[in-house]
Amino acid sequence: MIIFKKVADLKTFLKNQPAYPAKTGFVPTMGALHQGHLELLSNCRRHMEISVVSIFVNPTQFNDLSDFKNYPVTIESDILKLEKAGCDILFLPSVEEVYDKGVDEEKHYALGNLESLLEGYYRPGHFQGVCKVMDKLLHIVLPGHLYMGSKDYQQCMVIKRLIDISKLAISFHMVDTVREADGLAMSSRNLRLSEADREKAVSIFRQFGYIKENIHRSAVSELQDQAADNLLKSGFTKVDYVSIADPDNLEPLNSVSKAQRVRVLIAAFLGPVRLIDNMEIIA
Ligand code: AMP
Repeated sequence: MIIFKKVADLKTFLKNQPAYPAKTGFVPTMGALHQGHLELLSNCRRHMEISVVSIFVNPTQFNDLSDFKNYPVTIESDILKLEKAGCDILFLPSVEEVYDKGVDEEKHYALGNLESLLEGYYRPGHFQGVCKVMDKLLHIVLPGHLYMGSKDYQQCMVIKRLIDISKLAISFHMVDTVREADGLAMSSRNLRLSEADREKAVSIFRQFGYIKENIHRSAVSELQDQAADNLLKSGFTKVDYVSIADPDNLEPLNSVSKAQRVRVLIAAFLGPVRLIDNMEIIA
């Protein structure tokens, strides 16, 4: 694996590869790598000749400063994991390398309702920050293919929109969520959970089953409220949302018909740690 810290060096290297850009895949991450990240890499390697992983904790996407400060950094073990998994290139830039015009550079992305719904609503400015960094990273790497996780389903929709807006010739691939044995979605933030909270965390996954089982028995809004209540009863300290939504635009649904495809999305806190997860359900 070759590690690049400078944009210019990475670009020069890629330009000279015959597999660039058509057979070059990109996996952007914020590090503290787990099996979910490695699954993105494995999908990328299956179809591509060159895999590029980036590790960059993006300051502009954290609306909560303490979340940014407490974001886990495990760079040495990340490098070992990537080498073992057969990654070709690790891009490990500084903030100054990515934000060559400074982090305060004004730019606004037209994300429509995606920005005011769910994560957009509860984390103001978050998706503008995600677009800001992805705009930079995509223009630096200019891959033929991009691999991101459905764990962050709304983020996938945002990035597809960014690719459209920016008229980039990049194929987008959404990879299924990798889960722990009990169903908890793998996440770098799980590292911050106490042992007791780690046990409670599985309740999010259980609500997907609860909602699927009861989707034709209760009204959608009642079911959402009931699932939120279940989370609080199992020890979650705050629920931002439980949403049964249209998978194509994330608009909330008022009712669900037989065999309809819906996306259930949940965000909730265990103390200071905010967890998100989602799942498609066929009603
Ligand atoms: P992050 O490092 O949290 O910014 O995530 C980097 C990429 O990994 C994003 O595309 C995430 O959606 C994806 N990802 C995070 N957790 C998982 C998981 N459990 N399964 C699959 N992909 C994941």
